[in-house]
Amino acid sequence: FADRDGFIWLNGKLVPWRDANIHVLTHGLHYASSVFEGERVYEGEIFKLEEHTDRLIESARILGFTPEQTAEEINEASRQTVLANKIVDGYVRPVAWRGSEMMGVSAQNNRINLAIAAWVWPSYFSPEARMKGIRLKLSNWKRPSPETIPTKSKAAGLYMICTLSKHQAEAEGFDDALMLDYRGRIAEATGANIFFVKGGELHTPTPDCFLDGITRRTVIDLAKARGINVIERAIMPEEMADFEECFLTGTAAEVTPVSSIDKYQFTPGDICAQLIKDYDSCVRRKIAA
Ligand code: PMP
Repeated sequence: FADRDGFIWLNGKLVPWRDANIHVLTHGLHYASSVFEGERVYEGEIFKLEEHTDRLIESARILGFTPEQTAEEINEASRQTVLANKIVDGYVRPVAWRGSEMMGVSAQNNRINLAIAAWVWPSYFSPEARMKGIRLKLSNWKRPSPETIPTKSKAAGLYMICTLSKHQAEAEGFDDALMLDYRGRIAEATGANIFFVKGGELHTPTPDCFLDGITRRTVIDLAKARGINVIERAIMPEEMADFEECFLTGTAAEVTPVSSIDKYQFTPGDICAQLIKDYDSCVRRKIAA
């Protein structure tokens, strides 16, 4: 991904894509003092930009550091990056990390760096293809307790569990992995939240040890606007036998139906179809969220 044309915003200015490099003794690389965001551009505008930027700053605050830029400066830099790369439908990746001034676990005075990259990534929106659903495998890796690691931060370190889980699932021919939490409850997929449907109602795990996704909250609002009851609660894996539909939500995943998780089968139906449609209208600002 490094050898491309384009521009990346790095510590205050747009630099050519290939020149957006960092030193190998970067604290963020060695000790995972790094937080990031994933945003989508639809028709030239970053969807829920302000919420993503606020979450980036909050993720950093939880890890004990503050970007040099204000939220408004980060928003403006994000828009500039999208414009500079002439993106209509795409993805934006801001990342903030502790720099290379000191080496060791302690890095009190290291510079806080911020980069924003953006690339073309159309939303391959074909509801028919989506409705086939993807296949998930239950991961052996568990989401940790909030007493073990700050689970509310979208911190790079937490993604080690996701990569392990996703690689394991992919090696066995699955599309993605579903992780349980440290208590054995259903948590989330490796880059998306999960919902189930039973008797016309939505059930989704309470986000008490994983990300309460911006897409998750948007979809909850869209469902409620349709008069669909949404129940946030602890969900045990055995309950999957009784669920009719299942879908993932995330900036990248949007609303993606799931056809199976290990031995549990689901049939993407009316509620998946409705929410795919509503989410698409919402990101294209045809309906409010
Ligand atoms: N969980 C994880 C682990 C994620 O990486 C993401 C994507 N950021 C989500 C959930 C969904 O979050 P959002 O809807 O804000 O993209």
